[in-house]
Amino acid sequence: MKTQDYIALENQYGANNYAPLDVVLTKGEGVWVEDVEGKRYMDCLSAYSAVNQGHCHPKIMQAMSEQMQKLTLTSRAFRNDQLGLFYEELCKLTNSHKVLPMNSGAEAVETAIKVVRKWGYKVKGVPEDQAEIIVCENNFHGRTIAIVGFSSDEDSRNGFGPFPTGFKTIPFGDAQALKDAITPNTVGFMVEPIQGEAGVIVPPAGYLKEVREICTENNVTLVLDEIQTGLGRTGKLLAEEHDGIEADLTLIGKALSGGFYPVSAVLSNTAVMDVLQPGEHGSTFGGNPLGVAVARESLKVLVEEGLIENAEKMGAYFIEGLRKIEQAQIKEIRGKGLLIAVEFDPEAGGAHQFVEELSEKGLLCKETHVHTIRFAPPLVITKDEVDWALERIEEVFTAA
Ligand SMILES: *Cc1c(COP(=O)(O)O)cnc(C)c1O
Repeated sequence: MKTQDYIALENQYGANNYAPLDVVLTKGEGVWVEDVEGKRYMDCLSAYSAVNQGHCHPKIMQAMSEQMQKLTLTSRAFRNDQLGLFYEELCKLTNSHKVLPMNSGAEAVETAIKVVRKWGYKVKGVPEDQAEIIVCENNFHGRTIAIVGFSSDEDSRNGFGPFPTGFKTIPFGDAQALKDAITPNTVGFMVEPIQGEAGVIVPPAGYLKEVREICTENNVTLVLDEIQTGLGRTGKLLAEEHDGIEADLTLIGKALSGGFYPVSAVLSNTAVMDVLQPGEHGSTFGGNPLGVAVARESLKVLVEEGLIENAEKMGAYFIEGLRKIEQAQIKEIRGKGLLIAVEFDPEAGGAHQFVEELSEKGLLCKETHVHTIRFAPPLVITKDEVDWALERIEEVFTAA
């Protein structure tokens, strides 16, 4: 079968809810993937930061293979010998007290919403059904009904109502707006340290620190969605470390399993997580031995192979290289670690043409919104590989 045959099958039988590039991938190793025609590409998207450890990392593959021959799923009706170790390792690594394991990122977000509401009623004393959660404009927290209900992206929302209430939206990066929006019924503020899907929007310096102070002063839980920014992507294990703060709840997912298996988690301090009692929340697959064995190894690889430090170094080198490209239509280059974006002026006619041309040259990336390209390769990328990418990016950008 050829590329067009696979695409025809997808078009004939698949839901039309994605518009992928017309490359059909069949293999991956490190930062490289290969399509069904045998053409090699550098992956500069990393499955939206789910393969920070690189494609098919051999150690994670080994851990998964060993665990799947022993035990894969018990449900949480019984205990398994991987879960406690996963909790301990994750808590020590992230300075958390309690962990609640789920599968997809959206489930971690939903879990956090439930937990902070429960905390609001049980601990803060908010009257029944009055809890408010504050979120930011242009957020991306996933695709469930509750989550798209507080999205400001029309495509995400239109035609899917009615939505749950109890959410309030404020501008991102504006600490005063948070102060003004808080009421006695506010139980949580949920925010991404850097808005990934919105186009790698980095908030003003000091924003998160101020947000932390405002939440503390008002007895509001701070929920950081680090599903994309976490696990080394920005050059720290968690992006909150750049500001020297600690959230009350931190959401991780994506790279928690190195791209092998959906594993997400809510990390929390004891005071908030302890509101949950048996029977109040759960997931059949959440915390299963296969998933958490994969997650344990994925975390170990991040730390032991120095991928967090590499993200910081290679990210700085990548951004520096991008800044040297002379192209009058580049409006802004921004990012932290290996979460990088190039935004073009509207006159450039959209970033999609560049994405297609880069794909031709063997570099895969995707535009976010119309004018911005995100570059987020696996954190195993080497300096030579960054040079390889920069060479092609410069060719494509300056040919226009
Ligand atoms: C990807 C993402 C999610 C949703 O994760 P899924 O696994 O796709 O449900 C939530 N928040 C952020 C910041 C993300 O990048």
